[in-house]
Amino acid sequence: MLKVKKAGNHGILLPQLKIGLDYSGPKADHIFVSHGHADHIPWKAKGAVYATPPTSKFMAFRGVKYEVNDLPFGKTVKTNNAQITFFPAGHILGSAMTFVESDLGNVLYSGDYRTPPSPATEGFKLPDARIDSFITEATFSLPVYRWADYGKLKADITEFARSALEDDYTPIFLAYNLGKAQEIMHLLKDLGHPVQIHGAGFKLCSVYEEEGFNLGSYETYDRNTCAGKILICPSSALNNGFASNVKKKRIAYCSGWATMESRRTQLTVDKLIPLSDHLDFFELIELCKKIQPKKTYITHTPNPEVVKHYLDEAGLLSEYLDSKST
Ligand SMILES: [Zn+2]
Repeated sequence: MLKVKKAGNHGILLPQLKIGLDYSGPKADHIFVSHGHADHIPWKAKGAVYATPPTSKFMAFRGVKYEVNDLPFGKTVKTNNAQITFFPAGHILGSAMTFVESDLGNVLYSGDYRTPPSPATEGFKLPDARIDSFITEATFSLPVYRWADYGKLKADITEFARSALEDDYTPIFLAYNLGKAQEIMHLLKDLGHPVQIHGAGFKLCSVYEEEGFNLGSYETYDRNTCAGKILICPSSALNNGFASNVKKKRIAYCSGWATMESRRTQLTVDKLIPLSDHLDFFELIELCKKIQPKKTYITHTPNPEVVKHYLDEAGLLSEYLDSKST
């Protein structure tokens, strides 16, 4: 069986193979990056780094200076003791699950993932092979996190924008500037109404366009012309004066965390839309039952014991991967 070791905040090390997964450090010769969110980028990678072409572009936009080797989905790279293939993870554009095969067994590392996948991604696909070790994130690891049907979430988002505009209000969607923002733009394109997106998110949209995703009619946020447009920004931007000159506006907060009603008082928003780019708790447990890994490693979670309890009940061996695991 392959050894799996947590290394740093989000990094995973397979020490026998000298392979790192979202790993920063000196102990890996080959490092595979799951996606372009800043907390998964190996800022101090020492070995050869591989990412899908969209992830590689996002990394460059975010300031990565070292060379990144493009590894498209379904193509395999071989090291002297393993072969590695990316599978689509459904989280954001370019997000990948990393499948490592070796004589010591195989490992599937989920990165951040979502199934059913976001429509603004390449989808979600599992390897055909039987999985020995499954390393899964569990961001939303409590039974309170059960997402609504996607059709309903899409209708809520569309209706929020349409009714605000009809009432002569400016709709603002609070959404993270990589992934969620573009998913909302992709959903709203059929309204045919112009969108302005916060500058940090705007520059990332070009990667979606290059990959063939239609984000509708959009431009970068301009304080002087934003009134009456559909606006998208991260929640932090509101505190920094984003659209503060627009008097008639309605604000929707789009995040899995919106499931917890208390966010409304913290953020002073008009609507909470629990649209997440992660899978929910029940989807996670069902996926583990479907995969039937010999062992499941739980990571990136505040509640490992809850996930472990449900996996125990399903007869699935699991372990919380903390920094002391070997
Ligand atoms: Zn992510």
